[in-house]
Amino acid sequence: MSTSNGLVPRTPLIDPFQRSIDYLRVSVTDRCNLRCVYCMPEQGIPSVPHQEILTLEEIARVIRVAAGMGLRRVRLTGGEPLVRKGVVNLVRWISQTPGIEDISLTTNSILLPSYAHELAAAGLKRVNVSLDTLRPQRFRQITRHGDLSAVMAGIAAARDAGLSPTKLNVVVMREVNDDEIAEIARTTLEEDWQVRFIELMPFMDEQETCIRDTSRALGFIPSQEVKRQIEEALGSLEVAESTAGGGPAKYYRLPGARGLIGFISPLSEGQFCATCNRMRLTADGKIRPCLLTDQEVNLKETLRRGGSDDDLRQRVLEALHSKPDAHHLGDGNRPRRRKMAQIGG
Ligand code: SAM
Ligand code: SF4
Repeated sequence: MSTSNGLVPRTPLIDPFQRSIDYLRVSVTDRCNLRCVYCMPEQGIPSVPHQEILTLEEIARVIRVAAGMGLRRVRLTGGEPLVRKGVVNLVRWISQTPGIEDISLTTNSILLPSYAHELAAAGLKRVNVSLDTLRPQRFRQITRHGDLSAVMAGIAAARDAGLSPTKLNVVVMREVNDDEIAEIARTTLEEDWQVRFIELMPFMDEQETCIRDTSRALGFIPSQEVKRQIEEALGSLEVAESTAGGGPAKYYRLPGARGLIGFISPLSEGQFCATCNRMRLTADGKIRPCLLTDQEVNLKETLRRGGSDDDLRQRVLEALHSKPDAHHLGDGNRPRRRKMAQIGG
């Protein structure tokens, strides 16, 4: 697919609703070293056997083929991507893939102190870190055993390694962390973080999402309410733009702040899906055109029966053409076959 000057032609992947799809989120494992209440049941999820997980070489091949079709940006996710052996090599291969302009990682950050410098040297540009609270005891409750100081050490390691900007993902849950919204937003005054408040998505059954000792189910809060709380406590937000990665967050800034505040509103924002630019590759080799819709295309089957690059291209196009216009959660659609940890967010 390369031209004579070695550049990959920009032929955008356009879906049936005229959206340009240039972004792939790749789950490299369904395993995780935490058990966040909104993402995994306490007992975990039966892991897919190792032989059913795509090898790193298979993932790299899929990305090379998709890059030849118009893919420009890749994010590695999980489960927890840093528990997958060899992930640094994968980052290096992807960053050397003609056509790929941006590679990033979503992580709980626990293992970043060990990997941040190697990842940056391999070509990783930046990380998104999940951080739903600034209180150690609450962090242990939400993640079911995580150590907040390890996450903060990971964020510092990312900064030292030049992975920038740091984006923090905060899933907002009523009566769990909603009393901390302003406190978390306030960190952007001093830190150049992009703090993104994310609406809770319905991946779990109510009884699976209880915070231990309270039997409290997690409650949804729309972004508009989160924004109102921030403005009541800290003053008006100015509209801003992120410099990195694009994506669905709407960004704002507190006057004079170093960092940004973003809102990701898949449930409350009517136009959320209209600008969707992504598909997902699950650890067990399925392309998932929409995070919140269960339909998938089996790429692993094509890879493992010795399919050619052309065969892979056909499967990618099949996924592209089956991408729904919207998630239709309001009409009763719900993702049922996978938990979030099996897709990667
Ligand atoms: N383990 C990594 C991490 O936690 O960052 C990557 C995988 S995790 C599934 C990716 C993102 O999905 C995290 O930022 C997490 O907060 C978010 N997430 C998981 N379950 C969610 C849910 N039910 N609603 C909204 N966001 C969710
Ligand atoms: Fe693991 Fe990330 Fe899910 Fe938490 S959100 S359980 S860290 S995959």
